[in-house]
Amino acid sequence: MPEHQINAFQIAQRQFDNVAEMLNLEPGVREVLRWPAREFTFRIPVRMDDGDLEVFTGFRVQHNDARGPNKGGIRFHPDETIDTVRALAMWMTWKCAVVDIPLGGGKGGIIVDPSRLSPDEKEHLCRGWVGQMVKNLGPRQDIPAPDVGTTPQMMGWMMDEYSKLTGTYSPGVFTGKPVGGGGSLGRTEATGFGVIYNVREAMKHLKMDPTKCVAAIEGFGNVAQYASIGFVEILGGKVACVSCWDRNDKKSYTYSHKNGVDARFLHSIVDQYGTIDRKKAQAAGYLVEDGGAWISKEADVLIPAAIEGHVNTETVQKISSRVRIIAEGANGPTTPEADEVLKKNNIFIIPDFLCNSGGVTTSYFEGVQNDMNFYWSKPEVLQRLDEKVTAAFHDVLQMAEKEKVYMRDAAYMVAIQRVVTAMLMRGWLQGDW
Ligand code: GLU
Repeated sequence: MPEHQINAFQIAQRQFDNVAEMLNLEPGVREVLRWPAREFTFRIPVRMDDGDLEVFTGFRVQHNDARGPNKGGIRFHPDETIDTVRALAMWMTWKCAVVDIPLGGGKGGIIVDPSRLSPDEKEHLCRGWVGQMVKNLGPRQDIPAPDVGTTPQMMGWMMDEYSKLTGTYSPGVFTGKPVGGGGSLGRTEATGFGVIYNVREAMKHLKMDPTKCVAAIEGFGNVAQYASIGFVEILGGKVACVSCWDRNDKKSYTYSHKNGVDARFLHSIVDQYGTIDRKKAQAAGYLVEDGGAWISKEADVLIPAAIEGHVNTETVQKISSRVRIIAEGANGPTTPEADEVLKKNNIFIIPDFLCNSGGVTTSYFEGVQNDMNFYWSKPEVLQRLDEKVTAAFHDVLQMAEKEKVYMRDAAYMVAIQRVVTAMLMRGWLQGDW
C-alpha cells in the first residue's frame, strides 16, 4: 500500500505486529492488543458566542488497562479521526509500560481548531466532553491530560466539571492541571526535559560530547519549547532551528539563527497555539524559511516534536549525513518506510513512546500527589522524572543490545512483555474476562 494511504492506526498495528512476531506471541493475545478495549464517539453541542448552536464530534479510546487506569491526553485538532485516536491510545499503553508506571493507555480528541474558539466556547466544549464521558472517567478508571491543542486551563475546567457532576472533589481524574489548581510543579517542562534526559543518555552511549552538538527541532509547542530550552541549558548544546505552525498563514516556518536559537526569547514571543511572532523574530536576526527546512539542517540530533508522519519516504532523504540521533518528541513522527532508511543509515533512534514519556510520568506523579494531598517541590519532581526516564532508556538499550534489534523494536519488546505479564497475572488470558 502506498505510504500516503497508511493511517496512524495502521502504522501502530504494523509496528505491533512486527514485534509480536519477534516475540512469538500467541494469535489470541495479539488480537487483544492490536485493538482498543473500548471506544467512545459522541456529539457535543455548544452554544457559540454568536448565538448559533454548533455540534462537535468527540472521541475517547481506552486501549488497555491491565497495568492500571487508562491514561492519555485529549487532542483538539481539525483533522482528528478515530483512527488517529486509536493509534495514540495504543502508543500510550506502550509508553506507560516502557517507563514502568502503573497505568494503561487511552487517548481522546475533538474535531476542532481551538484557535478559532473564544475562551467561553472552549470552556463549554471542555465541559461538554466531560459530560459525555463522565461515567467512564475517574482516578481509578481513565485519567485524561493535555495534548496537541489543549492546555492546563482546559484540564482545570474538565476536572471541575467531573467533580461537580460526581459531587466529589477529584483532582486526580485529570492531570496536567494548572499549578495551584491541583497541578504538579514541573509538569509543563516534563515532556521536553524527558526528551533531553533521553538524548543525554544516548550521547553517553555513543560517546558524543553534548557541548559540541547541534540540534534541529521541529515544532514549537510545549514539547519542542522545553526540548530546545533543555538542549541548551541542561546539555550545553546549540539549537540550530525550531519550526512552527503559523495559524495566521496556515503554514509552517523554520526559524534559525546564526548564533543558535535563543529558546527562551522565542518562548517569550510565541502565543498559546505555538505561533511565533514573525516580525519580532526577524527583528532579532532570525532567518525564516519554509517549515520543512528543519529536517535538512547540519545537525547531530534531530528532534521531531510536532505531529505524526513528518519523517516519511520523501523527507527522510533530506537528512544530513551528520545526524547521529533522532529523538522523537512527537507521537508517531516516523513512518515504517522512513524507519527502514534510518535503520540502514545507522541512525540511533529514541522511539517516541520512550522519548516523550516524561510527560505522562509527571502526570503519574501529579496523580500520586493528588491522592496524598501533599505536593512536592520542583527539584524533587524533576529528580524523580530523570530517574524514571533514565532507567527506561537503559532498559530499552539493554534489550536492543541483548536481542540485537533496532531501538524501536526493543522498546516495543520491553513494553509488550510488561503488558502481557500484567494480563497474565490478572488472569485475563485464561478465557474468563
Ligand atoms: N499527551 C501526553 C502524551 O502523549 C501526556 C499524556 C498524559 O500525561 O497522560 O504522552
